[in-house]
Amino acid sequence: MDDYAKRYRLMCPGPVNVSQRVLDAMIGSEIGHRESEFSALLCAIQRNCLKIMNLSPEKYAMVVITGSGSAANEAVLCSAIQPSDRVLSLSTGEFGRRLGEISSIYNPNTKTLAQDWGTSIDLEAVETELRENRYDWVTMVHNETSTGELQPVKAVGDLCKKYGVRLFVDAVSSFMVDPLDLEECGVTFMSTSSGKAIGMNPGLSLVVGRISEFRRLSDYPVRNYYLNLARHYDFITHKQQTPNTPAITLFIALNEALKIILEEGVSSRFHFQAEKAASFRRGLANIGLSLLHPDHVLSNAVSTICLPNGLNFDELRAALRERGFIVYGGKGPLANRIFQVSTMGCVDFNDINDLLGAIQNIVTQTMHSVA
Ligand SMILES: *Cc1c(COP(=O)(O)O)cnc(C)c1O
Repeated sequence: MDDYAKRYRLMCPGPVNVSQRVLDAMIGSEIGHRESEFSALLCAIQRNCLKIMNLSPEKYAMVVITGSGSAANEAVLCSAIQPSDRVLSLSTGEFGRRLGEISSIYNPNTKTLAQDWGTSIDLEAVETELRENRYDWVTMVHNETSTGELQPVKAVGDLCKKYGVRLFVDAVSSFMVDPLDLEECGVTFMSTSSGKAIGMNPGLSLVVGRISEFRRLSDYPVRNYYLNLARHYDFITHKQQTPNTPAITLFIALNEALKIILEEGVSSRFHFQAEKAASFRRGLANIGLSLLHPDHVLSNAVSTICLPNGLNFDELRAALRERGFIVYGGKGPLANRIFQVSTMGCVDFNDINDLLGAIQNIVTQTMHSVA
């Protein structure tokens, strides 16, 4: 067996394990992207995705871009925002920081409101900014994956409504784990990707927004060819195609993953994800490990766990990898302080128990060797 054909339990915040049904769907498909089969597939993806989100296809649309989650973020930041627009970029961790970084490349009037990692967006500070300065856009992350803090989209959305500002939300790691109602929260555009809680392989990214907002974009200057949202919207709407050659196989898998969610029912999917996160967190407490911020508002996508004394992340990672589990370490200020486990993919309670057993085993061994 080639090394890359090994199967690990991917209990990291993306990529995730994929169900056999999704894997099977990709086999043996050879269709052309300028053919009616692909158009039917793309329409089904759009229809199923809006249905999952409980959005009316009369009012909302979506585009699928071949690329990872960052492609959707960059598409919005380079083509939904005009160069003269003023952008308030909210950051409470690595992914918020990246939104600010990408926005600054295209939009010179980007101000990043950077807070400490592991905090919740400071609504008063946001309101002060919006009241005292003119802004056209606010950007934020729903689940700040680097800390697992779920951010208050509704409250930020209310402020955006009050001050007449548009809102872009990166929901890459929260989509299908932590509910988000675009309509209620007043979200202008939302991004997500295939490789996280949708339960599919990485490689596709999605932008969802109001049709009226997509339509405005055709008047804007083109500043990026491949990631131009107006072009993607024009192609899906008028030709039921993508502008360039898409990763066709992944589109087939995406539609299968969306069909599975619809068959399971959206609310039972959310319930299952919440149960899995809760079960993992209970297990952690039982083996004496603690979450970084147990009393904060946490996403069900990822748990951020303090590294026990005497165990460094590289050792833990290697020992878990040897046992077939992949977990992540901390970024930035959290490097070698925490590790991260996700239960959002095709992971069940047995996988969770197996991982807890492995962690306990490693921690016990370390404690003995230290003592
Ligand atoms: C994973 C992730 C992304 C996208 O990262 P890619 O490496 O491009 O897939 C963006 N935002 C958040 C919050 C994420 O968790």
